[in-house]
Amino acid sequence: MPISSFRRICTVAACAALAAGCSTLPPPATEGPGKFADAHFHIANYAYQGASLKQLLRDYMKDDMVRSTVMPLPLQQKWDGFEQYAGDKVAPTYYLGPKAELYYYAFADAMYAKEYLTLTPAEQGRLDLMITGFNPMDRYAAQHIKRALLTFPGAFTGIGEFTVHKELVSRKIAGDPISYTAVGGRQPPDTTEKDGKLSLYSPALVDILKTVAETGLVATLHNDIYPADVTYDGTVEALRPQNNYEAGLTQLCVQAPGASVIWAHTGLGRFVKPTRDHLQMVSRVLDACPGWSVDISWDIVQERFIKPEPGMPSTDEWAQFVTRYQDRVLWGSDTVIYSRNVVDAKGVPVSMGKRMTFDQYMAVPKITSPLFEKVGPQISQKVRVGNYVKLFDGAKKKVRAWEAAHAADDVWDLSAR
Ligand SMILES: [Zn+2]
Repeated sequence: MPISSFRRICTVAACAALAAGCSTLPPPATEGPGKFADAHFHIANYAYQGASLKQLLRDYMKDDMVRSTVMPLPLQQKWDGFEQYAGDKVAPTYYLGPKAELYYYAFADAMYAKEYLTLTPAEQGRLDLMITGFNPMDRYAAQHIKRALLTFPGAFTGIGEFTVHKELVSRKIAGDPISYTAVGGRQPPDTTEKDGKLSLYSPALVDILKTVAETGLVATLHNDIYPADVTYDGTVEALRPQNNYEAGLTQLCVQAPGASVIWAHTGLGRFVKPTRDHLQMVSRVLDACPGWSVDISWDIVQERFIKPEPGMPSTDEWAQFVTRYQDRVLWGSDTVIYSRNVVDAKGVPVSMGKRMTFDQYMAVPKITSPLFEKVGPQISQKVRVGNYVKLFDGAKKKVRAWEAAHAADDVWDLSAR
């Protein structure tokens, strides 16, 4: 349209609407081998250093990362006044290193929701905000999730990443050991977790996933496939693949069948490496839990798809798995956009944390290229972008409908039995 005719039809009211829409570029195309949607992205670290949503869109997503989740890490590393971590020369910004506990930091939900609601519809359409500031072992967590939706309607699409079993993280979490409070003790296979404060058998998790089913949210759950006993400084005491969590996961999903859950990293992590039968276990969980998907995120996990060590599934086996579950696998980076302070073994600072560069962030999608080449362009497109768009757009619609239906609910009087 020539500018003169644009001016002619631009009344004062229409101008305001057009100006809002015209101030941002249209969303980038989602098709093509270089396009990704990040189903697992941490916008803030364990000390709530991170990036704003504007910075995420402008400095990191640009045209290639067409969509992204927004998951501030749910846990704050306590900066203990007595610990003298690293000789008090540098603050702890990561869970490995300091002895002090981790605790749930709910303010992050408000920080990102507030900014999200100021973005243009085009910008909002590219981001999926996740509620993270709840304790998954607390039956009041479901109330927090509903309060977040009712306080910031229009803001959230999901919850998580939240963690049940994760090597050192579970051990460092603030709270009561289950053996201290539980009537009748703990249930297998969780009986073996050292200092256990978290369990897949907690009724709080069922409440949370039922709330996910009711509201339409997507939940991203981290649960290692087997226990790893790790001390605060990263020393591995024991890996116990024989005590895997397959039964714990499947009993959870059948109690909340309508919940849409993404099981992060297929249960793998820094210390929890894939066993020979890893993909068979993951397949059994997916077969028992039709509402569940998995993400193939985290660079150190992805490296093991491409360069497996002896006794791990081969790249071909990963390709067969992705092909079989092609509608239920999502790519993610698991990047924490603000790096941590690094100290050497004597506690001397080596480097200070800062925001990553665009090139550092975009190095992660390249890792999985050999896997995507094996599965071919159609399946690759689904895993990189298509499954994300389907899952999160579907969730967004359902959550907005739940919020509309509950707009009159009293946020100060939510029922908790
Ligand atoms: Zn993560």
